[in-house]
Amino acid sequence: GMHHFFIDPSQMDRENKRCRIKGPDVHHLHKVLRLTAGIHVSVSDGCGERYLAVIRSIDPEVVHLELLERLSQSVILLERPIRLIQGIAKGSKMDWIVQKNTEMGIAAIQPVSTEFTVVRFSTPQDAVKKQHRWQKIADEASKQSKRTSIPVVEPPRTLQEVLELGRQSGESRLRLLAHEKESASRLADVLQPEALMHYQGIEMWIGPEGGFSPEEVMLAKEAGIRTVGLGPRILRTETASLVLLSVLLYEMGVLEA
Ligand code: SAM
Repeated sequence: GMHHFFIDPSQMDRENKRCRIKGPDVHHLHKVLRLTAGIHVSVSDGCGERYLAVIRSIDPEVVHLELLERLSQSVILLERPIRLIQGIAKGSKMDWIVQKNTEMGIAAIQPVSTEFTVVRFSTPQDAVKKQHRWQKIADEASKQSKRTSIPVVEPPRTLQEVLELGRQSGESRLRLLAHEKESASRLADVLQPEALMHYQGIEMWIGPEGGFSPEEVMLAKEAGIRTVGLGPRILRTETASLVLLSVLLYEMGVLEA
């Protein structure tokens, strides 16, 4: 997650929106964490206030920071809505995927038909029926897990339709496609707080039992979606979303709440 430091009250200069770090923390920040100017951190001033700050200069003796905004204690710095774009899995597995992602805080679930999805909707009514079934599961799981919001289960769409909607939405989203064959982006690089901070939302693209086809991976990459690996083993489709969601929530500091 994002680094947090305690500032000596005497080093706080609120009206000029500045503060300083001196003493032993400087070595840790400079030599161990190797933070540099431009990095965002959160600071507490020892008087019950917490700020989002950015390092303006750093040398072996002192770190100068600019206070960007005061944060209420409860706000989680990096929390961003996470949406699951899920290759439609067979049978009751989708029920399980909807329930578990809901418990863990997913913001929306977009069931997606891909080249290798086995499930085919015979009529549009069948797709609507499935969507309502999954939304009901999301409603119930939200109550059980005492969520303050209920995730939206979107109507099933094809991969191309979801990509097109992504092009149309003005929102800046970090879109990650979990791909067991190659992971162009290392998770660690993608999850840096400085990277996460610039996005309004995050999307997790998870393939169905048969995975994404090479063409689909290419289409996704052309649309700016980044592939990430989730370790050396092949996870079931229902496992993969929970692994990635857990990692994202931890990195955003949400699991500390
Ligand atoms: N190609 C896989 C195989 O060889 O069995 C089939 C897909 S896997 C069962 C289902 C989905 O989970 C994949 O499309 C991918 O999104 C995700 N997944 C599974 N293991 C993964 C891993 N090690 N790294 C990244 N994604 C993984």
